[in-house]
Order: sequence, then structure tokens, then C-alpha cells
Amino acid sequence: MIYASLKELSAALAARKISSVELTRLYLERIERLNPALNAFITVDAEKSVAAARIADARIAAGNSTPLTGIPLAQKDIFCAKGWRTTCGSKMLETFIAPYDATVIVKLEQDAGMVSLGKVNMDEFAMGSSNETSYYGAVQNPWDKTRVPGGSSGGSAAAVAAALAPAASGTDTGGSIRQPAALCGLTGLKPTYGVVSRYGMIAFASSLDQAGPIAHSAEDCALLLTAMAGFDEKDSTSLERPQEDYARTLGQSLKGLKIGLPQEFFGDGCDAEVMAAVRAAIHEYEKLGATIVEVKLPNSHLSVPAYYVIAPAEASSNLSRFDGVRYGHRAAEYGDLNDMYRKSRAQGFGAEVKRRILIGAYVLSHGYYDAYYLQAQRIRRLIANDFAEAFKQCDVILSPTSPTTAFKQGEKAADPVQMYLSDIYTIAVNLAGLPGMSLPCGFDQQGLPIGLQLIGNYFEEASMLATAHAYQQATGWHQRRPDGV
Ligand code: GLN
Repeated sequence: MIYASLKELSAALAARKISSVELTRLYLERIERLNPALNAFITVDAEKSVAAARIADARIAAGNSTPLTGIPLAQKDIFCAKGWRTTCGSKMLETFIAPYDATVIVKLEQDAGMVSLGKVNMDEFAMGSSNETSYYGAVQNPWDKTRVPGGSSGGSAAAVAAALAPAASGTDTGGSIRQPAALCGLTGLKPTYGVVSRYGMIAFASSLDQAGPIAHSAEDCALLLTAMAGFDEKDSTSLERPQEDYARTLGQSLKGLKIGLPQEFFGDGCDAEVMAAVRAAIHEYEKLGATIVEVKLPNSHLSVPAYYVIAPAEASSNLSRFDGVRYGHRAAEYGDLNDMYRKSRAQGFGAEVKRRILIGAYVLSHGYYDAYYLQAQRIRRLIANDFAEAFKQCDVILSPTSPTTAFKQGEKAADPVQMYLSDIYTIAVNLAGLPGMSLPCGFDQQGLPIGLQLIGNYFEEASMLATAHAYQQATGWHQRRPDGV
């Protein structure tokens, strides 16, 4: 069962080969046994999960189920889930019990009938690429326990790779779904900005944040995205569009598909083994009937610097709500009100979060706004224009997801710029608001998974997923599992 796809789990539940309660207990037992070393789950509440599974079983028995009813999943601890502790990886929210559900939680649990196994680890406030900034400790990569799982959705990726859950929710502001998916041998998708509601998802950089699925295959991601997506009047940036079935084009031929290779993503700076695996995938796509065209993204080298102005600027504003007044950490001892703010924030936030708040406040401040923030917004526009030009020549863009495979715990922790460069191929996609995904395309000599990135045009999630699915049908890299799983 722990190797089954979501579709297979759905069929097994429908045929009563297994109940949701049994399936949920199977994963809870694995979490109990394997999580202490892995540290993927921050909060587990077996009683809550089993109670939700009972409701799912009743729904299935009543013929009132969806394809996902009764299937367990792990929730990134950035989503408010009523009655669950929701920490966002921070000491600031160590004792925060969410009083309401994020729309993503409502859609996955109440509407689709999925069963939450608990809340999974993440970089603090989703700021990081290795899960090492979490207040709740680092997460092991199931492929090599001395290495990072990627971040910020590191707990989501490690939980799925180690089969502590068949799938997980994640969020991606600059690469946080795609990079951990790549480093853990999984398939993960960041939708077009506005497709999935951000309501109840703790905000990092609101103009970039999007939620999406992390699972084993494009097919699983299509099922999950269909359940997650949709207009939400509670999110002012949610887009009013018709409901979509993202699995509708899976299985369609790739004949005539034009794949664009941005020359800027095929230059220096990428590990040779990663590049070789990506080149082999391109060859595979040619065999499947696609044609390859070269495209240009001439401003892409500015994406990381622009992001590290825009994202901290938005974060400095979003995180000002954590002041110790209404909720979150409050210093035990303080003098006046200002001292209470100062001490609560100094104690509640970790070093990386403080760094971002300081950078953000600086680039927004009088005299620097024009030089930094405004310039970064202009670059953002140029990057979006580059993609628009590129999509005149191709249907989908292909690149590596991350320049390296999983790096060692501690290797980049002391060097923020090296850490930031982990997202060199993913960040431009967020700046432009485009959909992107990562899928496994091979292994390096140390047995570590390599990820391939596909970037679609706006609202082209379905065709992007079909492009990934065809490759997965032809190759099978996505079916590999780490030893001991
Ligand atoms: N690693 C990037 C950062 O640290 C992206 C994080 C994310 O997508 N949430 O900001």
C-alpha cells in the first residue's frame, strides 16, 4: 500500500479492499516509528486523524465521496487548520492553535475528504532552501540522512519520500515546492499565481506565495491540484475562473509539442551530473515527438537579486503582525510597550527571519525605496516580458530545477548567498506568476535524485502536467524509492 499511487489508493478504498481508518493507521504507525529520526512531522494528533478517517469511510459507504476521499496527506505547517497547532516553523507561533481553516485545508479535508496525518516541518516562515532555519530542527533527506531535504517545504518532501504520507501540501514563494521535490525525488507543482487561494496560509511574500501539491507523480499532482484550486472570495488575489480538471489531458501525445530551452539556464553554475540528466531527459522528449527550440530569458540573471528585495520587503510588512499583542510569543518580562515589542520579536524570530525583516525594512525606507524596491519591481516586469516573448516560440519551457542535488546538512547554512542560489532556476517563475513543476529525471553517482523543471504559460497547468506525465510513463524515475522504504 505504501507504494500505491493516489489513483490506486482511491480504487482500493472504493472497492473496500482497505478502509480509510486502516490506511490512516498504517501511516500513523510509520510516523511513530520513523519520524523521530527524520523530523518531518512537527505535530501529530492520531485521534484527530482517525476521527477524520471514520468520517471519510462513512462518506465512501454513503456513496458521497470524491476520488481523494479517505486518502491521508501531510499538511505543511504554514496552513491554519482549526484546532491544530500551526507554527510556520517558528518559535513565534510555538503555542498558536489556529482558530479557523485555510481554504486549502477546507478544500482538501472537508470538500475532497482527505485525512490530515499532521503538520510537517518547514523553514521558519518559509524562508530557506534546506529546512535548516526551522525552530523545530533540521529534517533528514530520506535518500541520504546526512543531507538536507531542500526547503522550505522540506518536511512535506521528506514525509512523502519516506512514505510517511502518500502526498503533501506545500507552498512556493521562490522554489519551495519544486526544489525540495527535486532534492527528494518527487513531483511537485506551483500553480499560476491566483489559482490556489492564499486565505489562511501564513503570508511570507504575498505577491509570490502559492500553494501546491508534492507527490510521487504528475498524475497524483493533477488529482490534488484539482481539489486545491478554485476561486475564493476570501483572497483578493484569487482568480475567478471556471473549475478545472487538471487530469483531463493526461495521456495525450506530445507530437508537435514545442519545448523551449532557455540558454541562460544551460550555462555555467550547474552541476555536470545534473546537466547530463537534464540533457538525457530532453533527448527522451524528442523521442516522444516533441521538438526543441532555443529561447532567451535575458534578464533571468537578475531574478535572485530582484527576489531578495521584493520578498523581504513584503515579509517585513507581513511579519509586523507578530508583535506579541494578540497572539504568538510574548516576552515574559518587559518594561514599556516598545520594550515588549522588541523583546517578543527578538526572542520569537530566528536569524534568517530577522535578516529578511531588516533587509525588507531597509529597501522600503525613505531614500532607498527608489534605488532598490522600485528597481526590483522594474526587473520583475522585464522578467515577465522575457517569458512572454519565449512563449511565442514554445509551449513549455524546460530546465534543471536546482543546480545541485541534495547538499550536506550545515554545508550552506553559514553562507546565505550560496543558499539563495539554490533557487536560481525557480525564482523567475514566481516573479512572473507562471506555473512551474519539478519531476525526477535521474540520479547522480551518489544515488541522489535529480529534478527537471517544466514551466508553463499562464493557466497551462493541465498541459504542463500532461508533458510531465508522458515522460513519467516512458521512464519511471518517479517510481524509485530510497532504501528502507
Ligand atoms: N528559498 C527561497 C527563500 O528562502 C524560497 C522560499 C520559498 O519558496 N518559500 O526565500
